[in-house]
Amino acid sequence: MLSLPFEPPIQQLELPIFSQLGLNVFVKREDTIHPFISGNKWRKLKYLLADAKQKDKTILVSFGGAYSNHLVALACAGAMHGFSTIGIVRGEKVNNHMLQLCQTWGMVLFFVSREAYNEKQLLFANLNLPHSYFIDEGGKGELAMKGCMEILKTVNGFSHVICSLGTGTTFAGLAQSAIKKGMKPEAICVLKGATAINNEVAKMIGSENNWIIHHQFHGGGYAKTTTALWTFIDDFAKQTGILLDQIYTAKMMQGVIQLAQQQHYKKGDKLLLIHTGGLLGLLSRNK
Ligand SMILES: *Cc1c(COP(=O)(O)O)cnc(C)c1O
Repeated sequence: MLSLPFEPPIQQLELPIFSQLGLNVFVKREDTIHPFISGNKWRKLKYLLADAKQKDKTILVSFGGAYSNHLVALACAGAMHGFSTIGIVRGEKVNNHMLQLCQTWGMVLFFVSREAYNEKQLLFANLNLPHSYFIDEGGKGELAMKGCMEILKTVNGFSHVICSLGTGTTFAGLAQSAIKKGMKPEAICVLKGATAINNEVAKMIGSENNWIIHHQFHGGGYAKTTTALWTFIDDFAKQTGILLDQIYTAKMMQGVIQLAQQQHYKKGDKLLLIHTGGLLGLLSRNK
C-alpha cells in the first residue's frame, strides 16, 4: 500500500518579518510527497487503503465537493493500488480539471443534491455494491488521524507546530504527536464561525488544553478569495519559490504572519508550519 517515498524536507522560511521579530520559521513540505496524492491526503489515505485491502474490499467509495483534493488523491491512489473508485460529489453536475483528473484514473462520479449528500451512509448503502469500502468526506476519522500522527514522526525541537484546519482530522493527529514531543500545536481554521469544531477536535485529541485553533483567519469563509489573497500568494511564491493554495495553506501562512505581527510568538520561538499540499486547486484561479 502507500509507503512514504522519502521524508518530506523541512526548509527555513527567510522572510524579513520573521527575522525582524527574532522568529525561526520552517516549513515541512508535505506537498512534495506526491503530485496528486498530496500532503495530508496522502497521510489520511495510508491506513484507510491498508484497512480496505486487509478486509478484501475492491471498491473505494468516498465523498467531496467539486474541487475536492481528497477525491483526486483517492482516484489516483486507488488506481495505483488496484482498487476501483467511486466519488459522490455534492451539488449539480459540473465538470472541471479536478473531476476530469478523477475520471482519468477511472473514478466513477455521481452527483447528488446537498440534502442527499448529508446522508453519506445511506448513499453508500444504496449503492449496494459487494466488496465496497466507505471512506468519509476528506477521509476523516480514526485511521486518517493515525496517518496524520506520523507527520511529526522524525521531527523534534520546535516550540510550535502549525497547520491549516478543515475537518480537523489532520490537526487532531498532528496535535497528539506534537504534545507528546513537548511542542505546542496550533491550527488556522479556514471555515467561518466554526467554533463548534473545537469540541470535535478535543474529543479526537483526548484533551482540551495544550492546543489552540485560531478562528479569525478564514478570510471571508471557506474557499472565499480576494484580490489581496491572490497578491499574497504571488508575492510569497516570488519570495520563497513555494506555492500556496488559496483554500488552506495561503490562509494558514497569512494567519501565522499576522499572529507573529501581533506578538503571539516570542523572540527565539522556533515554528514549524505544515504545508499540507492542495496545489491543484490553484488551477481554478480566474474561474
Ligand atoms: C483537505 C486539506 C486540509 C484540511 O484537512 P482536515 O484534516 O480536513 O482539517 C488542509 N490543507 C489542505 C491542502 C487540504 O487539501
